[in-house]
Amino acid sequence: MSKLNVHQYPYLSDNYGVLLHSPDSGETTCIDCGDANAAKAALKKTGWSLTEIWVTHHHGDHTDGVVALKKETGATVKGPAPLSQNIAGLDTTIKDGESFSFAGNTVTAIHTPGHTKDMINYYLPDECIVFTGDTLFTLGCGRLFECDADTMHTSLTKLAALPADTMVYSSHEYTLANAKFALSVDPDNKALQMRAQQFESLRADGKPTVPSTIKEELATNPFLRSNDPDLRAFLGMENASDEEVFAEVRRRKDNF
Ligand SMILES: [Zn+2]
Repeated sequence: MSKLNVHQYPYLSDNYGVLLHSPDSGETTCIDCGDANAAKAALKKTGWSLTEIWVTHHHGDHTDGVVALKKETGATVKGPAPLSQNIAGLDTTIKDGESFSFAGNTVTAIHTPGHTKDMINYYLPDECIVFTGDTLFTLGCGRLFECDADTMHTSLTKLAALPADTMVYSSHEYTLANAKFALSVDPDNKALQMRAQQFESLRADGKPTVPSTIKEELATNPFLRSNDPDLRAFLGMENASDEEVFAEVRRRKDNF
């Protein structure tokens, strides 16, 4: 097991890509690749040589650059088996609960359907990192394009159960809009109010609000707080199931 270096870089209008690198073995992986040029620029900047690409889901802003980057670098590509759409360039498909080794570190696939049917998140327990794709965002969660709210709720529950200090690398800078919405359904949450302020200044300085941690999300992300008494009281859903509360919060966000 070797300590890994993380390099996060923005691409397209609001995506984040990540390079993960082992200084010991020289191995480097890229999590998603919607833009091969942006990934190549990040590789040039770090001086790292790409050996792998891990894809979270089939959407073009996560996959459009995979084939070109693979061709250029010879990297091998892991990703989910097709459940609604193929991903070009995949060498290996990976299923829920399967693990593989990266530079001596265990990487476990967590299937989190909701945004898409195929979504795979990559969890590195030794490094306390999870790559959540478009499932869990800082203060938000992905839109339900291919699954229902119950399915997404189950997926988010899996992520919420990871150790509290796990760092959450998500794929989009949506946080200011997410914070506005979160405050609209959880207005008296002091931790949320503080975070929203911190994010305002981070973004004003052009800094990312990703990564987050599971602990911070549990305290402030309304999509992980279906069992919170204050949130339930605000929605007038004291006696509803967690799934019903989640579905209502998601419905409100869709119309926000
Ligand atoms: Zn997506």
